[in-house]
Amino acid sequence: MLGGIEAGGTKFVCGVGSGPSDLETAQFPTTSPGETIDKVIGFFRRYSVSALGIASFGPVDLDPSSPSYGHITSTPKPEWGGFDLLGEVKRALRVPARLDTDVNGAILGEARWGAARGLQDAVYITIGTGIGGGALVGGRVVHGLVHPEMGHLRFPHDVRDSFPGICPYHGDCFEGLASGPALEQRWGKPARELPADHPAWPLEARYIALGLANLAFALSPRRFLLGGGVMQQPHLFAMIREEFARILAGYVRHRDILDGLDEYIQRPQLDYPGVLGALVLAEHAADIGSAQGSHA
Ligand code: ADP
Ligand code: ZN
Repeated sequence: MLGGIEAGGTKFVCGVGSGPSDLETAQFPTTSPGETIDKVIGFFRRYSVSALGIASFGPVDLDPSSPSYGHITSTPKPEWGGFDLLGEVKRALRVPARLDTDVNGAILGEARWGAARGLQDAVYITIGTGIGGGALVGGRVVHGLVHPEMGHLRFPHDVRDSFPGICPYHGDCFEGLASGPALEQRWGKPARELPADHPAWPLEARYIALGLANLAFALSPRRFLLGGGVMQQPHLFAMIREEFARILAGYVRHRDILDGLDEYIQRPQLDYPGVLGALVLAEHAADIGSAQGSHA
């Protein structure tokens, strides 16, 4: 049995099992690191998991050769900056463990069991309180120097839009223009209260499609999965697909884009993509643990 943790800014979801069919979960609100981790450890102590994966909010340090490997780095969340998430969990539970970003976890889970099943190249984007993306390229999640920050992509600020954007670093980056809080500030009410015919939605679809187009040009994924609170608006998908095709302008010629956009840009399928992706990370941790003949 494997363990998975989706560490989020508002809650931690813990799961044990081997996949979606036997997953047992529990949730704990994200309070102080000490209190939250105590609850997480308490949950896993009731099971005998052989390895653990963690899919975490970030930024996180994913470089095994770095002294702060496995730590949350520069989060604005009070008390969590510099917290050794991977180390705390490993020391308490004494099993091999592996950490990645929440969105890398989500694409790993979806590629194993969900809407990107069997694909080696796919991108998961969440559009919620923030915007983040995880990319699977050639069957591996991309880390690179740190890890991708797809939520901070830059693209042209729409001429219809006088809202300056809310990213504290960049103002009008993807997240600054198109996250849930950006919608709320621009239009003066929560995104879920904006009616389907509100001008917010064509603009939102335009920004999301610009983000996807840039990622399609850079990574050429075989599928995009769009999750997060803002994507609960069902009409957004069709608007995004239409804008996406307009932006590509027929230049990327593949039948999946020319005739298959309903599948190419779709919803995630799993109830707990992050937790399930964390189980995939746990598998990797177990493989490495046994290859090294150690369970440290
Ligand atoms: P988080 O990003 O914190 O993990 P969510 O993905 O649920 O959480 O995103 C929360 C954001 O999504 C909020 O800004 C909220 O306004 C927005 N949101 C939540 N539900 C909806 C909805 N049904 N329609 C539009 N926006 C929504
Ligand atoms: Zn930004």
